[in-house]
Amino acid sequence: MNKVRIAIIGAGASGCFCAVNIKEELPFSDIYVFERQDKPMQKLLLTGGGRCNITNTFENIKSFATIYPRSNKLMRSLFYKFNNEDLIRWFENKGLKLYAQEDKRVFPVSNSSKEVADTLYREMIHNGVKIITNTTVRKIEKENEKFILTTEDKDCKKWEFDKVVVCSGSFTENLSGKMLSPLSLNIVQPVASLFSFNVDNNWCKKLMGLSVENVSLKIAGTKFKSSGSLLFTHCGISGPVVLKLSSFAARFLYEKNYQTKILINWCNDKTDEQIRDIILNIANIHSQKLVTNYRIENISSKHWEYFLEKANIPFTFRWSSLTPKHINRLVSLLSCDVYDVVGKSNFKEEFVTCGGVDIKNIDVESLESKQHKGLFFAGEVLDIDAITGGFNLQAAWTTAFVVAKSIIEKEKI
Ligand SMILES: Cc1cc2nc3c(=O)[nH]c(=O)nc-3n(C[C@H](O)[C@H](O)[C@H](O)COP(=O)(O)OP(=O)(O)OC[C@H]3O[C@@H](n4cnc5c(N)ncnc54)[C@H](O)[C@@H]3O)c2cc1C
Repeated sequence: MNKVRIAIIGAGASGCFCAVNIKEELPFSDIYVFERQDKPMQKLLLTGGGRCNITNTFENIKSFATIYPRSNKLMRSLFYKFNNEDLIRWFENKGLKLYAQEDKRVFPVSNSSKEVADTLYREMIHNGVKIITNTTVRKIEKENEKFILTTEDKDCKKWEFDKVVVCSGSFTENLSGKMLSPLSLNIVQPVASLFSFNVDNNWCKKLMGLSVENVSLKIAGTKFKSSGSLLFTHCGISGPVVLKLSSFAARFLYEKNYQTKILINWCNDKTDEQIRDIILNIANIHSQKLVTNYRIENISSKHWEYFLEKANIPFTFRWSSLTPKHINRLVSLLSCDVYDVVGKSNFKEEFVTCGGVDIKNIDVESLESKQHKGLFFAGEVLDIDAITGGFNLQAAWTTAFVVAKSIIEKEKI
């Protein structure tokens, strides 16, 4: 068997996972992983707030379209080759113990992303993968059947390889864009996904830290909506319901320069009439009590005061004093509270890029470029991204494994 030379660009989750999987099956291959930073897997260390939400049990997932806003059909088909259970088995076979939280997110038992990175690093070293740090790949060119990589170091060194796997992650720094430009690939414009909304509302500061369960959110005039829990932050709103909406509407929000109106139903899927019935019921039963003393279930006292103030209802009023106008205002605030989004903030625990190498450029079975045989892509560099919950890393593991298997199969023929 020939000694195949393979370059992997990027020592992140997908690059390191791909390297180990190839080298285990092709021990005589020469594998170089290029990393522009001084250490591999720097982003992996930050994942899950340092705990690494490595994957998800997928037990609550009805369809891939609900978790992967882009390329969900591709992800579904790749799952037949390598899914979350394969991943859990893979890491447990290497001695990394994992557990699933009640919300189905999976973490290492140590709750330490360093343990995940250490496991991958140890396997790379053990199998003889060469890790070249502090080295940025600037250019990939194809000459005859070989790939020539130009790296940015003192003398702009050129390297020759038989195969190249691009695992360079997010496009936000435009590094990947520059590096790939000689290959004339179609790139889906990269934009941010998974962010919190900055809103023009002084109440957010007052309610900062308050979490509200079962809220539904809609972008006015669009079909984008999501439901879940919401968290007030110092400059706006965040939490699963906001992050999910930011993911599905990532491109729309970018085009609107993150300025839009959102409509919040604080009683999730309840209609105006249902909310009105609940309010009238409280007004009937507790007519002589102060409006601050009785409120709708699920709404905290602090939050209820916000509704009363916004509806111009004095805190000293008794329920019996509410006029039909007051009731109407309360119903409309609870079912359709309007917020002006005026910008976005990074959600510190996780953010990704929507966009990247267009999957139309790629053979969906092998993740090999259709134009340039021997060139493969894995991880976030592809136009694949997910909502939070371990699904982004799972996409990195799955695509990296599929690339590794494709290369192994071709080399074993
Ligand atoms: C703060 C944070 C927390 C997150 N937490 C989670 C989580 O808990 N669960 C989850 O599922 N997802 C999480 N994500 C998303 C997840 O980290 C990514 O989806 C995942 O890291 C993608 O892996 P990757 O290998 O494609 O890219 P990366 O991990 O970004 O790795 C790419 C590597 O390539 C290197 N590189 C880039 N260009 C070049 C070049 N030209 N030459 C050499 N090297 C290059 C980069 O330096 C980098 O090390 C989080 C993201 C962030 C930012």
